[in-house]
Amino acid sequence: MNDTRIALVTGANKGIGYEIAAGLGALGWSVGVGARDAGRRESAVEKLRAAGADVFGVPLDVTDDASVAEAAELVAERAGGRLDVLVNNAGVTGGMPQEPTKVDLETVRTVVETNVIGVIRVTNMMVPLLRRSASPRIVNMSSGVGSLARQSASDDPNVTGPVAVAYSPSKTFLNAVTVQYAKELRDTGILINAACPGYVATDLNGFRGVRTPEQGAAIAIHLATLPDDGPSGGYFEDAGVIPW
Ligand code: NAP
Repeated sequence: MNDTRIALVTGANKGIGYEIAAGLGALGWSVGVGARDAGRRESAVEKLRAAGADVFGVPLDVTDDASVAEAAELVAERAGGRLDVLVNNAGVTGGMPQEPTKVDLETVRTVVETNVIGVIRVTNMMVPLLRRSASPRIVNMSSGVGSLARQSASDDPNVTGPVAVAYSPSKTFLNAVTVQYAKELRDTGILINAACPGYVATDLNGFRGVRTPEQGAAIAIHLATLPDDGPSGGYFEDAGVIPW
């Protein structure tokens, strides 16, 4: 079996996911660039290869069972049925504003389907491959706006994000999901953690963020490369633990 570490990053065609793929590629890993759009996926793969990374495109829509099953097959073919790291990065805001009393319910459904159910769908399809890794890791890209402690302690939108009944609660839900996985997987060696990249300039926020995608990727790369005695079921940003 090939000793090169193998990772899959969802939503890796742009933004923070692209930089996570670039960062893991720079470590000499083989990285699956998960992306739903063929054109965007191939241009990301080409760019990453031009920078010297060992990457391969993985057609992947996290909201689609068949797409995720095919992605698992494709990843399995690369390294004898093994996956070392899964980064669940793909996410949507659903668009703003999202005031609770005025929201379109379809927005809430779409955001939860992508940011939460999509993560569960992809994770469950990849867990059999992760179980074959010596040091398996899962990183769920959450957000500080999912912290109920921060939401209740502050009204500053720089801390809490805008009032948003779909996006922020989807990340709170994702954090809770992360904890439950950590409990079930406690004795498997699979370490699973939630990450906040900070406020990063990407399409997601009309490039209003103040950090670069590369800076946003750093916490995910850190959690993807945790030692075997590293934490599981935690919620982290660059500065350390985020209060739930
Ligand atoms: P982005 O540039 O908009 O990238 C989002 C990625 O997710 C894109 O590759 C997008 O693909 C993909 N995606 C969306 N829905 C998908 C689906 N159904 N299946 C597969 N891929 C899908 O945003 P980003 O800022 O890099 O966000 C990455 C993650 O960081 C998200 O989970 C986000 O919530 C989180 N985050 C971001 C910030 C920030 O300040 N930017 C802060 C906290 C957390 P397409 O190109 O096909 O749309």
